[in-house]
Amino acid sequence: MRGQLSVFVGAVVMAALVSVGAQESVDQDVFWRIRQEGTNNSHILRTVHELTDVHGPRLTGSPNLKAAGGWAIKQLEGWGLTHGRLEPWDFGHPGWLNERLSAHIVSPVRDHLVSEALAWTPGTNGPVRGPAVQITLPTRPTKEELTAHLDALKDTVKGKIVLVGAPQVVLVTFNPPPLRREDSDVSAQFSRAAPAPAPPPAAPAQQPAARQGVLNANQIDEQLNLFLLANGALVRVNDAGRDHGQIRAFQNRTYDPATAPPTVVMRNEDYGRISRLLGSGRSVELEFDIVNRTYPEGRTNYNVIAEIPGGDKADEVVMLGGHLDSWHAATGATDNAIGCAVMMEAARILAAIGVKPRRTIRVALWSGEEQGLLGSQAYIKEHFGSFEEPKPAFDKLAAYFNVDSGTGRARGMTVFGPSSAAEVLRESTAAFKDLGVLGATTTRSRQRGGSDHTSFNEAGLPGVTVLLDPIQYNSYTWHTNLDTYERIVEEDVVKSAIVVAAAVYHLAMRSESLPRFSKDEMPRGRQTQTNGPTVAPAR
Ligand SMILES: [Zn+2]
Repeated sequence: MRGQLSVFVGAVVMAALVSVGAQESVDQDVFWRIRQEGTNNSHILRTVHELTDVHGPRLTGSPNLKAAGGWAIKQLEGWGLTHGRLEPWDFGHPGWLNERLSAHIVSPVRDHLVSEALAWTPGTNGPVRGPAVQITLPTRPTKEELTAHLDALKDTVKGKIVLVGAPQVVLVTFNPPPLRREDSDVSAQFSRAAPAPAPPPAAPAQQPAARQGVLNANQIDEQLNLFLLANGALVRVNDAGRDHGQIRAFQNRTYDPATAPPTVVMRNEDYGRISRLLGSGRSVELEFDIVNRTYPEGRTNYNVIAEIPGGDKADEVVMLGGHLDSWHAATGATDNAIGCAVMMEAARILAAIGVKPRRTIRVALWSGEEQGLLGSQAYIKEHFGSFEEPKPAFDKLAAYFNVDSGTGRARGMTVFGPSSAAEVLRESTAAFKDLGVLGATTTRSRQRGGSDHTSFNEAGLPGVTVLLDPIQYNSYTWHTNLDTYERIVEEDVVKSAIVVAAAVYHLAMRSESLPRFSKDEMPRGRQTQTNGPTVAPAR
């Protein structure tokens, strides 16, 4: 294979350094070798297997996540990367893992129930059995209203397994979301016209005055948990509220298992069945056996770092990465073992073909993303600072590439920077149109949320997010109990790794760094905005 390839490569060397756009000269020889290595020797599925089947789930603070990071460093160094290290940051909460969960209905029928534990809640300390009861909560209560409501339920919940809320009605979907995006749709998104600067935020519309003291969802949850604990409820059961058995189980937001009863999220179909049985006047008895464990050492978490050292511009860096942590209901394949595997593969390809980049190429696999982009935030604070409070390395980052939207192939990129930055990315990936990548565009947003590239954007650094075909991400796998190895589309992720490797290599070789906003153009950051943006949920 290698021999044949070198003959083929020899034929295209003459065509190297072809100008594909107005200015960008790309190294077509290296691009061809990237394509061949990525296509013929892909290690992506082996990497996903290690991260999911062997080490998943990789919840922040868990020993699984640390072990996955250790494995990734060994693997990256085995491929020829150097300076592999786990960089610590302070999570401030213990790690947590569910080890065992069985849930059954034992009366009036016998059957098993599909549930996932809520993270950072306690186990049942052995099997517990009790009558099921369903309670409802008032809408938008104040603390006093909620207290009065719960006080009346004290005797109802004692020794019971408590279903919280009426089952959600999940309507059938007649128009399933598309798995791929049309080329015309993607092309339009990445059309050459730079997006106009965002208009100044409109004055907030007159809202009816909020009722004094209304609790938010987290406050209601905390008060309910303390009530259930104090009044001897055995288990709290939440409705997953999604179709086809999908369960999204997140966390007890206090991160302290002592503040909540054992809690599960049950699939909508089982929750509805129990609710209907209760509604028809039957007594229902349930049994749970939940083993959860906490890990005090999980207060310290780690980002995984490894490099391909640079040459004459070694102090400048091109970074690529994704978050290694996952939720715990599955093994976190599309969110986000695959993003890590694509970025590791891009680095492997570059190492395997023996590139000698001018700038250092640095892989970073983050932790704490699902709890609020915590690992990347800590890294940026430590190494780069921000536009407003820069560290010396602030000017040395060419770009950070991020993948975190599932298993689809790369369709384009969005960069935090001026239109000339998108132009560079567009022209440097133009040779891969046949793989599906159709352009690049810019963002001026410094709002954190979504994924780790926004930690860079927030700091005023050039974050690049790789946009992917949706496949089944938002509809089935994102944060669900169905996010497993089987849902990875190899054909797509092989293409993504090739495109990322080429773009990273190009930025590592280019004589000028990727254009950035000038000091005058830099959008205002969070600290200086009058209307502070809210943080969007992590991907
Ligand atoms: Zn994610």
